[in-house]
Amino acid sequence: ALGAMQDWPLRVTRLVDHAEREHGGREVVSAWADGSMTRTTWREVAAQARRMARALEKLGIRKGERVATMAMNHGHHLTSWYGAIGMGAILHTINPRLFCDQLAYIANHAEDRVLLYDKAFAPLVESLKGEWRSIEHYICMDDGEFTDWVGSEGDDYRWAEGDEREPIGLCYTSGTTGNPKGVLYEHRSTMLHTMMEVTPDIFGMSARSTVLPIVPMFHANAWGVPWAAPMTGCKLVLSADYRPQQLCDLFRNEGVTHSAGVPTVWLGMIEHIERTGEDVAQLSHVTIGGSAAPRAMIQWFRARGVQVGHAWGMTETSPIGTCGAPPAGWDEMTDAEQLDFIARQGRIPFGVELRIVDDAGTELPRDGKASGRLQARGPWVVQRYFKEERDAADADGWFDTGDVAALHPDGTMQITDRSKDVIKSGGEWISSIELENCAVGCPGVAEAAAIGIPHPKWDERPLLLVVRAAGSDVQEAAIRAHLSQHIAKWWQPDAIEFVNELPHTATGKLSKKTLREQFAGYRLP
Ligand code: ADP
Repeated sequence: ALGAMQDWPLRVTRLVDHAEREHGGREVVSAWADGSMTRTTWREVAAQARRMARALEKLGIRKGERVATMAMNHGHHLTSWYGAIGMGAILHTINPRLFCDQLAYIANHAEDRVLLYDKAFAPLVESLKGEWRSIEHYICMDDGEFTDWVGSEGDDYRWAEGDEREPIGLCYTSGTTGNPKGVLYEHRSTMLHTMMEVTPDIFGMSARSTVLPIVPMFHANAWGVPWAAPMTGCKLVLSADYRPQQLCDLFRNEGVTHSAGVPTVWLGMIEHIERTGEDVAQLSHVTIGGSAAPRAMIQWFRARGVQVGHAWGMTETSPIGTCGAPPAGWDEMTDAEQLDFIARQGRIPFGVELRIVDDAGTELPRDGKASGRLQARGPWVVQRYFKEERDAADADGWFDTGDVAALHPDGTMQITDRSKDVIKSGGEWISSIELENCAVGCPGVAEAAAIGIPHPKWDERPLLLVVRAAGSDVQEAAIRAHLSQHIAKWWQPDAIEFVNELPHTATGKLSKKTLREQFAGYRLP
């Protein structure tokens, strides 16, 4: 027999309904690509989403069909999420930074019927129209077309109802081999993820917060911020422009308290602030993730009184898998211990299970020493990629993340590498990430990448590529001296090369794949 409480499907439309009812006057601010700003409220976002749901129905879109967006962060993009999902469609957020053949593939694979895009991507859209087979409607979001299209509808639409396990969103991961794969989020998985995300130890958002995500809405749903914001009733600031001065202006003028972004974004911000004498204004909480947050970066924020949450996750985990926040006993920890703690990838929230295994699949101890393949399971972890015939998770629900990690006795997880990036030397693993992190800790080093170069005796040996900071003339000897303080002797790179820039992927990470291609014929000294 069952209990006797109400059935209240966990559907994301309830988020915007709640914000409309309880925080209706709270602002949603957009800074557009052309430099203009618009201000709206949760009440108006909800009403506009209902109008859009009706407009989509009039286009003939039916439940379960895909509506795609190719857009930066702004109010119309936000409206279109709730509008499309609210009428039962599946929102496909396309990452415009993917390669053209990937862009052609994913829209066809998703069978998108509508594409909502930013004017800035119009040339890209034009060049792909010939290859996209299923898209019938193209609507520009930031040149008046969107408002004309939606504006004439009534706002008395009632959201589509249904099971909380119905799909709402599709996000493709770039993948390292083969075609991109689609992760199909659900109402329920998203709601559970959102409830976790707003808690104090994760994003720590509340009704008093002003949140500016500096992670694009096409990148794992801007890490869930557009769902978390209406749950808390915070003020939401969206910026289509990622230039540091524009972001600093928003921080100051809008009173931003919470922000989130990848290390590359923060690196740019920090350089800018150091150069111009700007400050972090009212910022109290930043989430850094997507790749490892360097210690120096964490320290920079701490010195300004900003709490850093170091998060790990991936598209397949919705994306939050872990996040660092002060544990019990924090105040008794020394400064260095606190920094060590946050430099690891954080603790495991309720709703996520993690384990590490060796190549044979045997679980390894959580002793902070063993490192192995990181596996995850939980209600917001992928079970099966879109349209695939086989599960991505094993029979027990464990999904192999492709990361290599250690689990520490204090409950933190530490990424030591991606399984394809570890440098295999003499049967042992050298963590390319750790080498890079150490190298960027050396004064004068802006960015660094380590890759394995084939070696006749050791199998592979590390090559370290370094981008110097502006105005710096740092030399190999200084870098080696710095490294030797932090790493085992046999981890010293066999060669260090200075380069002007390093290649990045569509999501702003170092592209090791491109680097391995670039240095395919490289001969170690
Ligand atoms: P892609 O796989 O296309 O880069 P994702 O955003 O899904 O896109 O990337 C997820 C991966 O990013 C993780 O599997 C992990 O390797 C890396 N990653 C995410 N957060 C961190 C972090 N805090 N530290 C180190 N690596 C991270």
